[in-house]
Amino acid sequence: MCGIVGYIGYREAYPIVIKGLKRLEYRGYDSAGVMLYDGNDLKLCKTKGKVSDLEEKASKETTTNGTIGMGHTRWATHGVPNDVNSHPHVSNSGDLAIIHNGIIENYAPLKEELIKRGYVFHSDTDTEVLVNLIEEIQKKENLRLGKAVQVALNQVFGAYAIAVFDKKNPDEIVVARLGSPLAIGIGEGEYFIASDASPFIEYTSNAVYLEDGEMANIRLHKPMKVRKIKDDSLVDPYIQELQMNLEQIEKGGYDHFMLKEIYEQPNVIRDTYRGRLHANEGIIQMSGVEDNLEKFLNAERIIIVACGTSWHAGLVAEYIFEEFARIPVEVEYASEFRYRNPIIGTRDVVIAISQSGETADTMAAIKLAKEKGAFVYGVCNVVGSSISRETHAGTHTHAGPEIGVASTKAFTTQITVLTMIALRLAKAKGTLSNTDYHRYLQELEIIPEKVKEALETNDRAKEIASVFKDSHNCLYLGRGYNFPVALEGALKLKEISYIHAEGYPAAEMKHGPIALIDAQMPVVIIAPKQGHYDKIVSNIQEIKSRSGIIIAVVTKGDTQVRELADYIIEIPETSDALSPLITTIPLQLLSYHIAVMRGCNVDQPRNLAKSVTVE
Ligand code: GLU
Repeated sequence: MCGIVGYIGYREAYPIVIKGLKRLEYRGYDSAGVMLYDGNDLKLCKTKGKVSDLEEKASKETTTNGTIGMGHTRWATHGVPNDVNSHPHVSNSGDLAIIHNGIIENYAPLKEELIKRGYVFHSDTDTEVLVNLIEEIQKKENLRLGKAVQVALNQVFGAYAIAVFDKKNPDEIVVARLGSPLAIGIGEGEYFIASDASPFIEYTSNAVYLEDGEMANIRLHKPMKVRKIKDDSLVDPYIQELQMNLEQIEKGGYDHFMLKEIYEQPNVIRDTYRGRLHANEGIIQMSGVEDNLEKFLNAERIIIVACGTSWHAGLVAEYIFEEFARIPVEVEYASEFRYRNPIIGTRDVVIAISQSGETADTMAAIKLAKEKGAFVYGVCNVVGSSISRETHAGTHTHAGPEIGVASTKAFTTQITVLTMIALRLAKAKGTLSNTDYHRYLQELEIIPEKVKEALETNDRAKEIASVFKDSHNCLYLGRGYNFPVALEGALKLKEISYIHAEGYPAAEMKHGPIALIDAQMPVVIIAPKQGHYDKIVSNIQEIKSRSGIIIAVVTKGDTQVRELADYIIEIPETSDALSPLITTIPLQLLSYHIAVMRGCNVDQPRNLAKSVTVE
């Protein structure tokens, strides 16, 4: 999600921190801030906007001296992007400063407790809760910073990479990580801290990447101490010699942002349900839904409005909502909906889906639905975006910035949010049996593991890509929950490799597209074991009898389709309803490799823009 940078040494920290933040801006860029310690006091400068806005603001304030500094470029998860919510956050006493990348899931009860003890909060962030929790522990137990951080972290759930500074002991910075990356650059008499090594690559090539659950005390002129947060045991840090260049580091070692984002999916799906899905307790909790539960339960129908990949996520949701919560759903292209005088009533719930939260047509559809009295719910990735402000309520997907123009992790995290909403409503309405409800919760919780397993199809996808990279056309077929996945697979191929591709419901093929099938036509068929397996086997036979070439995505261990298909890609088994989260992975990889082999600009395909703010 966000980018963090820190410096402790003998140089002026400000230029190092600012330059580092610019390099990390690809990780998040809705607001930024810097803290400098000038030997006496903490100096803060924070602003909504980009790092360049921060620089401009800081240039007007004489706060840029000091050889210790920390900076942050934010990707908001809790609280809109504004000056106050920007990091660093300072504790009530003014002694501690923190920068944080991630989410503190249990911030609400901790905040309540701290308020009871007299703490005052200025921001809406989960981070400000953490820094005050550390302060409270430090005071109560009279601990040094490192120890207090450790005790506090053992009380929080969630994901974090943090750096904390205490002006009472100004020769150290304490860092820790769980779920979010953190690299420490080791120089001569100086240390660098950053979300990746790009901010310090020109100063040192020695870096330690903290492992999950580790923390480090970084003290000037002392060797760094790394220990486990849980049990305090010391860890021998592995000092790595950096060999990557700047661009490689920003892309996390991947060749393209798209590939990096495909591989991020296990983690970001977990971030999406973090703090919301409690499988063992059988609870799903999203404040937007809880606060408006009656509206959802009284809904005569749900209308989903979206564009592009988000529209495909909406189609998956249509199947899920109808199956789980028995509410009729219509899925509309926002651009069509807004211009056709749709019939909308006050008992309709409109769900608007958009990665950027800025899609012009979706925005217009929201305004129209509101005018007609509907309750409008947003599912966006970008906190503080126009759509999250315009809707009555909503849920953020927490996928972190998506930079590749072809959407990947936004799609799977949107489906994750929509599935959770459907399950929550199903529970309230009693439309799913208790056993099924609990089974889906458990399954959703382990989906990241299965997505990870599905990513192992990468080599296979690459092999198949090398056979079909010069195709002119391609057909994608699926049924039920996987019909929208076929549409999404075709869209991915079109947008990044410029090969004409069409997605179709497999049975509908007989009513037209079957005429296209010949020995030159690759047909990608999504045929997992669950769902309409027998029907799809018949569809495969129909294609086979017309000499079509079949690439089938099947459940591990499948034998029947294997007999018929020319190429198979095996994915782990999951229930029919959750299968789109898995079946979509090899299709993303397939289109990625085909585009690379054709020499296309994968991250910035021609004629496309990441966020479509024109109609
Ligand atoms: N949860 C924190 C916030 O919303 C940090 C988000 C981030 O990683 O940028 O401020």
